[in-house]
Amino acid sequence: MERTLSIVKPDGVKENAIGEVIKRFEQKGMRIAALKMLRMSKDDAKGFYIVHKERPFYDSLTAFMSEGPIVVMVVEGDNAIVKVREIMGATNPKDAAPGTIRADLASDIEHNIVHGSDSKESASYEIPYFFSALEIC
Ligand code: UDP
Ligand code: MG
Repeated sequence: MERTLSIVKPDGVKENAIGEVIKRFEQKGMRIAALKMLRMSKDDAKGFYIVHKERPFYDSLTAFMSEGPIVVMVVEGDNAIVKVREIMGATNPKDAAPGTIRADLASDIEHNIVHGSDSKESASYEIPYFFSALEIC
């Protein structure tokens, strides 16, 4: 059993795709262990994506991630980290396999609907960024 942090990004919330994202996780056997909606400040987003601070897209990405509410969730299951990323599809929707969330719903490489931790190390930074132990069921 493994836990990962997933986010329905501001574009996904705006497009009423919260339920669609959760449905796809649940239909692939994942369990939602924690869930909430919030809006990050620009600094919150910078802290969340601190690993990307030297990347050219850091400023634009953190502006996008703080432009509206997001839904953050802890997703639990066997191999949850890899499985959630498979369900999401590649970062760039143009490269994402058909049937993945990003292939089906995302508009471009930045506005790609959904986030999922990419490793155990990321998950152990990202889960407590949003949730206390008491909030994870
Ligand atoms: N991103 C972007 N331009 C790029 C690469 C990434 O705007 O060239 C954005 C995109 O929203 C992506 C996020 O930055 O989801 C984090 O990038 P990462 O490489 O970690 O992709 P992910 O793990 O989300 O697939
Ligand atoms: Mg990533």
